[in-house]
Amino acid sequence: MISDYDCYLLDMDGVIWINGKEIPGSIEIVNHLHDMGKVIVFLTNNSTKSRDKYVEALREIGVSWVKRKNIVSSAYVAARYLSDLAKRCYVVGEAGLVEELRLAGLSVLNESSAWSSGADAVVVGMDRNFNYMKLWTAMKLILEGSLYVATNTDRNFPTERGLAPGAGTMVAAVSSGAGMSPTVVGKPSEHMFYEALRCGNDGKVLMIGDRAETDILGATRMGIDSAFVLSGAGKIEDLKALGLKPRYIAKDLRSLFHDFT
Ligand SMILES: [Mg+2]
Repeated sequence: MISDYDCYLLDMDGVIWINGKEIPGSIEIVNHLHDMGKVIVFLTNNSTKSRDKYVEALREIGVSWVKRKNIVSSAYVAARYLSDLAKRCYVVGEAGLVEELRLAGLSVLNESSAWSSGADAVVVGMDRNFNYMKLWTAMKLILEGSLYVATNTDRNFPTERGLAPGAGTMVAAVSSGAGMSPTVVGKPSEHMFYEALRCGNDGKVLMIGDRAETDILGATRMGIDSAFVLSGAGKIEDLKALGLKPRYIAKDLRSLFHDFT
């Protein structure tokens, strides 16, 4: 049964909300699971917000019990990954990514310091102010030997106006210029799942997500059961294309718990 798991890894965009607007019924399910004593970890590839901002946003839509430890974002995982490997970073990304890197003790360089003194690492994530100079700076540093880390490679994400370009489009531009591929820390990478399991690794784990190539692929590689919901960006055909067979498939989070209980 769907409620037999001890820990639920919940993707956010396309599972509990779309652009911060609740997918009907999802918060009730999340709170119900919490009331049953389940461990819940919100797992998102979206690097634009810090964990504290996700906590605020979740509390605003009715998840009053949520704490920083319940959030694993690709920005946080990038910061954890780099904390032992680098000191000075150049970031193509937004405030949430910068904040997580700083919380992990890394210094974030501006463009002119990066050009004059170089960086240990370049971190690329979603950046709605992406431009040519950022691309050039990132490319130059990577060619000079900086580590190259991407928060995630999601090509697009669902909005109320349809699909919008995701971090993967910016990573593709940087990779193309530098002729190199990054270490990706977000889903489907094991880095993200190890962080999530560190937060809630007791007993049976279920990953719930709306994307085959990140949520379901990552969980499958880790040997974790998964549930695919059709309330976000993914389609059934995406599963077939990747040869994936999640244990559960449902219209949305609410139907998942109603259909399989
Ligand atoms: Mg999603």
